[in-house]
Amino acid sequence: MRHIKLCLLLLLGTIVSLPAQQPKKLNSSEIYEAIQKLNVLGSVLYIAAHPDDENTRLISYMSNHVKARTAYLSLTRGDGGQNLIGPEIRELLGVIRTQELLAARRVDGGEQRFTRANDFGYSKHPDETLEIWNKDDVLSDVVWAIREFKPDIIINRFDHRRAGQTHGHHTSSAMLSMEAFDLANDPTKYTSQLERTETWQPKRLFYNTSWWRYGSREAFDKIDKSNMLSFDIGVYYPSKGLSNNEVASLASSQHLCQGFGRLTTRGTQDEYIEFLKGDPLDDSNDVFAGIDTSWNRIKDGQAIGNILNTIESNFNFVNPASHLPQLLEAYKLLLNVKDGHWKIIKTKELKSIIEACAGLYIEVSADTPQASPESTVGLRIEALNRSDAKIDLLSYNLSTLDTGISKNMEMSKNQRLNFDEGINIPKDINYTTPYWLNKKSTLGMYHVDNPEWIGLPETPRAVFVDFNLNIQGTPITITKPVVYRHSKPDKGELYRPFEIVPPVSASLADKVFIFENDQQKDIEVIVRASRDAVEGYVEMAYPNDWSVYPQKQKIEIANKGDIQKLVFTVIPPKNQSEGLITPMVNFNDEFYTDELIAIDYAHIPYQSVLMPSVSKVVRLDIEKRGNNIGYIEGAGDVVPESLRQIGYNVTVIEPEQISAENLVNFDAVVVGIRAYNILDELKFKQKFLLDYVKEGGNMIVQYNTSRRIKTDNIAPYALQLSRDRVTDESADVSILDPNHPLLNFPNKITTQDFEGWVQERGLYFPNQWSEDFTPLLAMNDKGEDSKQGSLLVAKYGKGNYIYTGLSFFREFPAGVSGAYRLFANMLSAGKEDKTTLKN
Ligand SMILES: [Zn+2]
Repeated sequence: MRHIKLCLLLLLGTIVSLPAQQPKKLNSSEIYEAIQKLNVLGSVLYIAAHPDDENTRLISYMSNHVKARTAYLSLTRGDGGQNLIGPEIRELLGVIRTQELLAARRVDGGEQRFTRANDFGYSKHPDETLEIWNKDDVLSDVVWAIREFKPDIIINRFDHRRAGQTHGHHTSSAMLSMEAFDLANDPTKYTSQLERTETWQPKRLFYNTSWWRYGSREAFDKIDKSNMLSFDIGVYYPSKGLSNNEVASLASSQHLCQGFGRLTTRGTQDEYIEFLKGDPLDDSNDVFAGIDTSWNRIKDGQAIGNILNTIESNFNFVNPASHLPQLLEAYKLLLNVKDGHWKIIKTKELKSIIEACAGLYIEVSADTPQASPESTVGLRIEALNRSDAKIDLLSYNLSTLDTGISKNMEMSKNQRLNFDEGINIPKDINYTTPYWLNKKSTLGMYHVDNPEWIGLPETPRAVFVDFNLNIQGTPITITKPVVYRHSKPDKGELYRPFEIVPPVSASLADKVFIFENDQQKDIEVIVRASRDAVEGYVEMAYPNDWSVYPQKQKIEIANKGDIQKLVFTVIPPKNQSEGLITPMVNFNDEFYTDELIAIDYAHIPYQSVLMPSVSKVVRLDIEKRGNNIGYIEGAGDVVPESLRQIGYNVTVIEPEQISAENLVNFDAVVVGIRAYNILDELKFKQKFLLDYVKEGGNMIVQYNTSRRIKTDNIAPYALQLSRDRVTDESADVSILDPNHPLLNFPNKITTQDFEGWVQERGLYFPNQWSEDFTPLLAMNDKGEDSKQGSLLVAKYGKGNYIYTGLSFFREFPAGVSGAYRLFANMLSAGKEDKTTLKN
């Protein structure tokens, strides 16, 4: 526990997370900038809801120009977004976006915080958001962030006065910030936090406003700005060779999974913040007006400031090591000051400056990227002094050992010291998986057991080494996490975090297995060993009314990193049923039920995530007509695979293949989500599709947006798309026309079929249509009018045209039975008089 606490302290200082490449070593300009920042004792906390909400221009300006300690508090980790760079969604997307935020902060110099709030997807109103989040828990986390970070200034990205006009998460972030500003200093609120920190009153709260808040630049020019401060965030930094807005663009371009890769911008640009509450502004245009941000801020700080300001004004770029005697003097004075908060922060900063001035290279690299508890790992330690300073390596302490290893060696200039150590990974060590995923989360909240970890961007590293040095007579301890350094011929030197993983893990081929009849299916289990000589067995956990055989299968994996594949046969029950299956790997008399998921992208460090290895099995009570389905793919969805899972023969039709001859063979043609927004060809091919319907075909169009639509005649009759959506996945559904064939053939659709839906009912419903259409369903979010455009059907010639904004593309991968049954009816439209093909 002692070690975990130490490491936590490190994390609470400036960012120490590992970059995708070599851990950063500061050059002269960077050391100088670090000293400038060391001499500012002021802090800014920027608050918004999601990764990518943050205004990196302002964060970079505060961090690099004002030199304030600056952090971004993102209430969520962005699980509810889309992913443009890979298949990860939900929790895994949240892991990527957490790392993208850390990558952005490495560029703009900020720090990163979170709360336990879970991004559950789009929310129309803060009332809904704060009901789904546990409002009091999220507020408590914002209060905790304020008490712990102790910002002088808070800046909200969003306007707390605009409920209902933007994403509910956005407005909620501003509302919670407003409340927390007043609560953080109240010793009667969230008292358990006060065992670990003190109350804190930030000085001022601002809203990061902009002209678009007022409709136009002209309108914004005219308003009274006496309660606003403005900054030219285009300031140029000669030490970086970059303008502030260029730094900001580079930072926000880290949000690659959200498609934020962008051109950099330069030149003068004004940014405004509107005063909301706290100490009134004066005429200085200084956010810190009235706050002493010099070393005089802390008792006995003046003497330290005198030394460090002298270094700043006479900085030796050629030989930064010449400042070591003064830096060490300041360090000793700092150790004696009383102020707890700034002492911890400034000690950390000063130590890294001393380390950089001395040109120290200290690194601990493991001989393997991953190890499991109770295994042995070789560590290669490198310690090098690249300055004239007299430095001794006294000893080092491995976090896995109770006693230090004494060295007492002089670190002569540029003479590398290398040591090899073997460590035993303790049995009870924490796995290197995101801590907020250790327990099952709710729709609105992550569950975090350890209150000290709440808000941390990452799980503190469990394996690290403390180096006890004597630098010119001053003892200093420098802590390094263990890394894995390797090279690839086509890539050069590479770094990865060193990770602790379970000895075995298992995964199933799919997250959902659909059984459209009572036939058994073979399901593959992949078992992976993270240590040598794994022998044990696998058995499956499954629902009572299902069967799986064989009961147990042996595993025998000789080498770490190898896998073994097993096949289990799953037999569904006779009637509709669903449940979960989990492969349980027994090794050394313990069951392991997690899968180990790797996330590997060039712009973020390698991540291993442990998640329960669970798949859903669904026995559908479903009947179908027709077999050959043509699918025109839009913006990407898994509807074709899902339809194949229930036995359809699905052919993907390329836009250029759309012709009368090709379409005639299909029992139904389905158009993928947003196809009319992205496929230019549909403008010219729409005629063939509608002719196909006229001649007796069956066409199903899933949602499109009205903006940037490629054709005016998406349907054979008038149909106006809107932004109507129903985000509450459990919103009541009323059936408008219970006798309509689409709701009766071949499956009887009832309100039961709308149970268990996920994320939302649907989106971009039409809000006006020709009377040729029959609306079949009505639904709405709380407090809104009934929406009847989610499922519209029209006869056209001899065929049927169906338009639906229902979110089948979300329900199918979640194995929602009712969604499959309703879609089967849509595919069967017009086949009512043909022979019944029962399963
Ligand atoms: Zn957002």
